[in-house]
Amino acid sequence: MTTLPKHERYKRRICACLTLVMCSTAIMAADRTPKKFEMPFAATTKDEALVWQKQVRSKLLECVQLQEPHISLEDVPLDVQVGPAQDKGTYTLSTASFQGSNKTGTRREGLLAVPKQKGPLPAMICLHGHSGSAQQVFDPKTLYYGMADRFASGGYVVFAPTIRHRKYAAMELWNLMRAVEVLLTRPEVDPARIGVAGLSMGGEWTLWLAACDERLKAAVVSGWMCTTEGIFSVNNCPCWELPGTVELLDVADMALLIAPRPVLFESAERDIYLPIRFSRLGFTRIQAGYKIFGADEAARQDVFPGPHEWHGTLAYPMIDKVLGGRAAQVQPPNP
Ligand SMILES: [Zn+2]
Repeated sequence: MTTLPKHERYKRRICACLTLVMCSTAIMAADRTPKKFEMPFAATTKDEALVWQKQVRSKLLECVQLQEPHISLEDVPLDVQVGPAQDKGTYTLSTASFQGSNKTGTRREGLLAVPKQKGPLPAMICLHGHSGSAQQVFDPKTLYYGMADRFASGGYVVFAPTIRHRKYAAMELWNLMRAVEVLLTRPEVDPARIGVAGLSMGGEWTLWLAACDERLKAAVVSGWMCTTEGIFSVNNCPCWELPGTVELLDVADMALLIAPRPVLFESAERDIYLPIRFSRLGFTRIQAGYKIFGADEAARQDVFPGPHEWHGTLAYPMIDKVLGGRAAQVQPPNP
């Protein structure tokens, strides 16, 4: 029996440990990912795809309703209140609040940016992630790289709500829909040109909002798109596991509720929450699904060599192309 040199023994031991860790991770993922989904995307024609979309959307709304009953605007009116306007050069920035979708009408706060231009203007909802805020999405020194400021400077009316972390992220869906209503109260907003963008949990909210509310005409889902197996393969916050939805369909399939509307997924190669191989796999499924909807070109993925953060390289031109602003031409703010 040959004796291996010391460094070689170490190397093998490390390899054995890594294999063990990877195997346990794979077992964990296999354990929690449903073996069979209840409503996977399996359409082969556009008509079938549209039927599937309608059925899944209504099922998802039912799941949200079970956790967070919807309160209509008749029962609790929006009652938007806008604070004094601060001059930001090309736009004005104000605090803006609205009554939330809850029985007491507890108010939700946010920031509203209005370009100093004549309408009708395109508009964007910009969404922060875990422990974020409306201020952060405007700030160039954060993971969001001032994306809301960039859209506002590019001629978009921007509403960025500050959203509370809930047991399940989707419980905020009704308030996200109210955020769209906030934009619709503005006379300068063109209702046919509203989009949404968000990072991390904000990416998840973006996906939910665009999937369930067809008033959104374009979406940038940053740092969220993955397969269910991929999300389970890492110790992620369980707030995405809305009861009834994990078994229903793979999270990547959920993006097909946005089809045929344009959507961009930002996927970071060094994202520690969403392993890139699963995000790539998720996108191949989405792309195949978009093809069935006859909208091959409308789904895009921006894979970039960074960590879990906003990127923007393809996002600004894509949103500009669909909604008609010019955020891509704005000089990026200096962090
Ligand atoms: Zn969470």
